[in-house]
Amino acid sequence: MERNELLLVYGQDPKRMAYRLADEAGLDQLIGDRQRRVGLKPNLVLASPAENGATTHPGLVEGLIDYLQERGFSKLCILEGSWVGARTREAFRLCGYEELSARTGVPLVDTQTDGAREYDCHGLPIRICDSAMALDFLINLPVIKGHCQTYLTCALKNLKGLVPNAEKRRFHSLGLHKPIAHLNAKLRQDFILADGICGDLNFEEGGNPVPAGRALAGRDPVLLDSYACALLGLAPDEVPYISLAASLGVGCADLGKATIQELNRPQGLPTAKAQGRLVRRLASRICAKEACSACYAALIHAMEKLDAEGLLDRLPETPCIGQGFRGQQSPKGLGIGRCCAGFAHNLPGCPPTARQIRDFLQNL
Ligand code: SF4
Repeated sequence: MERNELLLVYGQDPKRMAYRLADEAGLDQLIGDRQRRVGLKPNLVLASPAENGATTHPGLVEGLIDYLQERGFSKLCILEGSWVGARTREAFRLCGYEELSARTGVPLVDTQTDGAREYDCHGLPIRICDSAMALDFLINLPVIKGHCQTYLTCALKNLKGLVPNAEKRRFHSLGLHKPIAHLNAKLRQDFILADGICGDLNFEEGGNPVPAGRALAGRDPVLLDSYACALLGLAPDEVPYISLAASLGVGCADLGKATIQELNRPQGLPTAKAQGRLVRRLASRICAKEACSACYAALIHAMEKLDAEGLLDRLPETPCIGQGFRGQQSPKGLGIGRCCAGFAHNLPGCPPTARQIRDFLQNL
């Protein structure tokens, strides 16, 4: 896998999805020597099961462990430090990681109890946990989700779990964006497998998961976060730490330079089930017939942005979406995705991203 590549897979089985992404990416060749110490860093911000939209599905981590152990990598660990106020050990237990560790023999490292040293992170001193700096290869497994302060949390921000609690507090006092970018200039992630199965639209702590049924792999956290922005209907400049990280040489924010490959198509996924009050309200403004989860989630993300801008009531027609509209002609209708190609106003794509949908609806 090259640094400008992103691989996308759709499905409902996290373990198989992760294994397939690792295989397609040639992860074993990226790591190289079987003696290298490999760390897997999920997002366990708090003790909340992945189904709530905040934490990484343990099945994704298990898929990678299976892949790596089958190929002779034995120096593996799972490392994480929950946010200030939550106990990592409790998150390991409740999110299924204790059980995963017992089953696979891969140890858990709680970075909240780890030692740390200060490093010069491109001009900003930051204390980083010893267990993270001792790794030879860091695999980041963030959740693609919204964040009430930074709007997006994904690959770049997930490394905050590898600094001590006192540094996490300081990150907030520094406004998050700058320290996140600078941390990534020192602590490099070598491979990213992002969990886009059911991330929360708005809150880091979850509670309102939106099923999208996808996972995304890449090597460049800036590029991957830029793409995650598109999936959530955000422009990359709405998340300042992305361009800041790019300016520090962490990666490339230009999606025009990315090669994005889908390993399968979203057809066959169960139809989307809207959850939560916000989603229900937005869903009442959509006409959906057998919409795939990823397509539906993208439209919900885009509608949420339009709602915040006061534009929702100015749409000329109710947006239609889903495989149930295939082959239908609508001389006045507004249709999202390839399935609605017969509509007067149609955005092609299968699925289109939330950003594309937002731009399309704004222009209408
Ligand atoms: S365009 Fe149709 S088939 Fe493609 S993701 Fe959307 S609903 Fe599914």
